[in-house]
Amino acid sequence: MSYKLFIPGPIAVSEKTLRAMAQPMIGHRSTDFVALYQSIQPQLQSLFYTKDPVYLSTSSAWGVMEGSLRNLVAKKVLCCMNGAFSDKWLDVALRLGKQAGALRTEWGQAIDPEALRAELSQGGYDTVTLIHNETSTGTMSDLPAIMAVLRDFPDVLSIVDTVSSFSVLPIEKDALGIDVLLTGSQKALALPPGLALASVSPRALARAATLKDRGYYFDFLEFQKNHENGMTPSTPVVPLIYALKSKLEDIHAEGPANRYARHARLNARVRDWGRTNGFTLFPQDRYGSLSLNCFTNTREIDLPALNKLLKEEHALVIDGGYGKLKGKTFRISNMGDETDETIAVLLAALDAALAKLSK
Ligand SMILES: *Cc1c(COP(=O)(O)O)cnc(C)c1O
Repeated sequence: MSYKLFIPGPIAVSEKTLRAMAQPMIGHRSTDFVALYQSIQPQLQSLFYTKDPVYLSTSSAWGVMEGSLRNLVAKKVLCCMNGAFSDKWLDVALRLGKQAGALRTEWGQAIDPEALRAELSQGGYDTVTLIHNETSTGTMSDLPAIMAVLRDFPDVLSIVDTVSSFSVLPIEKDALGIDVLLTGSQKALALPPGLALASVSPRALARAATLKDRGYYFDFLEFQKNHENGMTPSTPVVPLIYALKSKLEDIHAEGPANRYARHARLNARVRDWGRTNGFTLFPQDRYGSLSLNCFTNTREIDLPALNKLLKEEHALVIDGGYGKLKGKTFRISNMGDETDETIAVLLAALDAALAKLSK
């Protein structure tokens, strides 16, 4: 049975993207690959708002998230934590044997720039990890305000995860001073899983060069060396790079500004639907994510039963809460290719299913 995903990742992939993947294989050291790689760099750099290269990693986002720690943390990393993905990053740092500190915030709260300033003022840190859009709680932190604080600590490098917010709104890497800006393929970009993208600043590369335990697979210096020849360090997931090229064409055709406006409009529409139906937003309103809505299950709906109805009668799926929020919240994605029409279909299905459940 085929059904459409409105969970916040992986999300629905368009027919056009799927077709783009079904092309003959090319050798990853061939001139055809170099042409493919180099053809997408300008559009990627424009979407990353950077003049630095954008590396393509055949891994999920976690590969580059872990790799960033190995490449950047010489002394101690401060992990900004306000949900499942950002909390996990501290665990990953400790597993790597890195010195790590925690800036803990309640799930559903945004990262507080002044709390970050206070912690960094204690000294000892050389790296910060931040998740711009905590997908587990639908909370979007104020990235410009956080980066303004980090610019006051020039020795502290920033690793910013935009897995579920990249291309949903402008994230200006160079202007904000982000050292590693990373994202994955299967969320905001609406590609299948398996590819991560990262743009790395020259000073982050300089830091990496001083570190001995970068490993191989996620070594930024290997990525840089190969990038200079239009290639990746090891054999990449070529079909996903075809898909990425196709997606970049879509984004270019729509126009980034129109894409940002579409995401904002669809997000507001789902949020209004939630309010009208008696559900409150889990995060504070002003930090509500633009790419998904995480609602508190105020009405104590039987979420597995709701999803069963949605799947069986409407061929679509929403998310019934992440980790410790399972059953207590539900999440609806408006990432990727969603339109006014597809969101209208989803909301009508939700109305019908809720009506049936409350009988
Ligand atoms: C999904 C997600 C990740 C993890 O991505 P993988 O592709 O599973 O490695 C990391 N950060 C955020 C914000 C996410 O939403």
